[in-house]
Amino acid sequence: MTAAARPIIPPARYAQRIATAARLTAAAGLDAILIGVGADLRYLTGYPAMPLERLTMLAVPARGAAVLIVPRLEVSSARSCPAVAGGHLAVVTTDETEDAVAILIGLLGGRLGIEARQVRRVAINDRLWASFLLRLQAALPGAAFELASTITRQLRMAKDDDEVALLRLAAEAADRVIAQVSHGSLIGRTEAEVSREIRERLVTEGHDLAEFAIVGSGPNSASPHHEASERRIRAGEPVVLDIGGTLDGYTSDTTRTIWVGGGDPATGPDPDFVRLYGVLREAQAAASAAVRPGVACQELDATARSIITTAGYGPQFFHRLGHGIGLEAHEDPYLVEGNPEPLRPGYAFSVEPGIYFEGRYGARLEDIVVCGPSGPLVLNRSPLDLQVVDGR
Ligand code: ZN
Ligand code: ZN
Ligand code: ZN
Repeated sequence: MTAAARPIIPPARYAQRIATAARLTAAAGLDAILIGVGADLRYLTGYPAMPLERLTMLAVPARGAAVLIVPRLEVSSARSCPAVAGGHLAVVTTDETEDAVAILIGLLGGRLGIEARQVRRVAINDRLWASFLLRLQAALPGAAFELASTITRQLRMAKDDDEVALLRLAAEAADRVIAQVSHGSLIGRTEAEVSREIRERLVTEGHDLAEFAIVGSGPNSASPHHEASERRIRAGEPVVLDIGGTLDGYTSDTTRTIWVGGGDPATGPDPDFVRLYGVLREAQAAASAAVRPGVACQELDATARSIITTAGYGPQFFHRLGHGIGLEAHEDPYLVEGNPEPLRPGYAFSVEPGIYFEGRYGARLEDIVVCGPSGPLVLNRSPLDLQVVDGR
């Protein structure tokens, strides 16, 4: 269990985020952004709302105060979120028999000083359920609907110091689990058993929730998103461990590929695997080291890919280099060919090249890296050199 104190994002920070969102909404010529349950809502208010068929929605109008509408049975948890508890955001509750969408539209019109049919442009969070979107579209017949990520992604991509501290705590907790599992018993156990152990350990080490625990042994190591199976781990094969969860909403995501030696030099890694791993290791390090403000996302992908391709493994690295991380495990920015977006300080993302030979074996290494003011801040600390573990 970690002894480090957890940073707390103060209520005033949420008020600032909502104010910035309102300013960007007005600047974009939108009437409002409407944010349902999900990471955008949590980012703006601190409210980890439950996804329900009843409407929970934050309305940030271009003019006037933001308002959070929640079903009556959720009101106590809504009131305890930092933005509301800090006195920065009003809550309106709806009863079971009321039309929550109509109430929301009425509040919005009141703040904007216009009728519902005069609302011209609204943005909604990307992950809003279609059932809510269709009702909103029917209630705002004159409005064009857009994605709110055009506003929220700018805010969420650049993590502040408290967010980076939370990502670091999550990364360090995941590192401890990688170390514990790597040094524990593996041979003869099924991938699923080891995966369950990882999930338990993620929580023990400080995560609120274990989100995923990929265990890919032997030929399964060649499948990047392999689900842990009933296959038993043997001596003389690699195991890919790709694990993560959330800590105060912020996600960990780290991958190490270990070789299960069984204490016998005869079942050590074969020369082909050692070469493959060495190339992967070099590509991962080069891409991490290239992180600094102004470098394009696709440039990081190209840095790793050129090393892997030059070594002859180009076709075996068939996914992007990485993804942004924060309140979601996969979020902007994506490190992929075709994304020219320049890094800015505070951007947080995975650097995770992989080389996979289907039916034989594969390897992936993944660290979370934050773009610092003049270079990379690597949050994970697990060894990147090939670990040949005993596994007995
Ligand atoms: Zn993945
Ligand atoms: Zn991962
Ligand atoms: Zn990842």
